[in-house]
Amino acid sequence: SSTNLLKIVNDILDLSKIEAGEMLLERIGIDLNYALDSVVLTLGHIAKEKHIKLIHHKPDEKFPFVLGDPTRFVRVLTNLVGNAIKYTHDGQVDVRPSYRKLDDTHIEYRCEVTDTGIGIPKEKHLSVFENFTQADSSTTRKYGGTGLGLAITKQLVELMGGTIGLTSEMGMGSTFWFTMPFEITDKVSEEKYRRRRKMHAGTIFPEHARILAAEDHPMNQILMKKLMSRFGIGSFEIADNGVIAQ
Ligand code: ATP
Ligand code: MG
Repeated sequence: SSTNLLKIVNDILDLSKIEAGEMLLERIGIDLNYALDSVVLTLGHIAKEKHIKLIHHKPDEKFPFVLGDPTRFVRVLTNLVGNAIKYTHDGQVDVRPSYRKLDDTHIEYRCEVTDTGIGIPKEKHLSVFENFTQADSSTTRKYGGTGLGLAITKQLVELMGGTIGLTSEMGMGSTFWFTMPFEITDKVSEEKYRRRRKMHAGTIFPEHARILAAEDHPMNQILMKKLMSRFGIGSFEIADNGVIAQ
């Protein structure tokens, strides 16, 4: 219940922030390949539990690194793939990302999420993007949720300069798609390369690791201790604050 409540509160806060024009987007490097991989990996567990196949159709050519807001980009993908899994009882969910060049420095990203789920009646194709709107009055009872996911998704896509839409037939499944323009960058690749090199130079086995953490919150201290022992860290100490740690 607390998880559900937290989701609703966060959704309402996000939506009011967007509607008040206060949602400021970040503009940093996004690895489009990694972003979608992480969403498929995270939601894959839910699909597996429902015995639904979640298939990520990766194009042969990798996506370029781009500038944008990775958190909000992942949020859009999570909402669409999450819905596809939620409203499908058997069959599969296909995620098809692609892009086309707009000019030398810009691309248009497109992602299609197709499911074999319950489908949405034609007269609801527009209203599902409205706040608190669900296709059916029994949706909350049967599936949970508040009908805010797609409203937030559409607002975020449009804030990022993109468009979103769907095709669907009752009982046959749905396809939600969105497009988004991005500026290409090589910033992410450099950062990643550096990080990877550093990791190789300093890789040690967990049992040889000695870790000192400065953390003042007792709950976090307990959690850290549990995690460190699960990772098999050889020596782990916690100091209540940075001064003690020094
Ligand atoms: P939440 O706020 O938790 O996301 P929700 O999933 O009900 O709740 P939306 O994601 O906004 O809300 O979706 C709105 C409605 O559109 C849903 O209630 C459902 O009726 C319909 N819908 C969305 N995605 C699909 C889908 N892939 N297949 C069938 N119906 C869908
Ligand atoms: Mg939803």
